[in-house]
Amino acid sequence: MMLYSGASNGDICRMNNDKQLLCIECAKLHNPAQMCPVHPEEPLLDPDDDDVRFELMNLDDRARSRTYTRWMIGLGGLGLVLATAGYFLFKIYVNGVIEAFWAETIGGGVVGGGFIGFLVARKTYKQRFGQWTMDGQKNESV
Ligand SMILES: [Zn+2]
Repeated sequence: MMLYSGASNGDICRMNNDKQLLCIECAKLHNPAQMCPVHPEEPLLDPDDDDVRFELMNLDDRARSRTYTRWMIGLGGLGLVLATAGYFLFKIYVNGVIEAFWAETIGGGVVGGGFIGFLVARKTYKQRFGQWTMDGQKNESV
């Protein structure tokens, strides 16, 4: 009986704590509750918890590599198509000259496209949880 009431008091204290909790779908803080008010399926997490921070870093890392992979493969592929098309187009007019450089032409298209993709990804990618993770603190102090 004593033990039970002690435990429930502890729970009540924690519930009454007005520290805001994080929803990983919104990447925003909400008033303390079990679930996010916007996403009823998402439990709210304590961003001061090391395990939560670790998970946030993982989510950011995965989102970062997804963004980079998508843009670099996308634009690298586009570069491949354009360089190949350009190669065959030029071949009609300046046959013999470009033929010696087919690898450079097509390779250059892929590398150029991939590099543009890298730059676009760097512009596009935004860390969602930086303010709650080590990464964010590192960025601020640099
Ligand atoms: Zn949410």
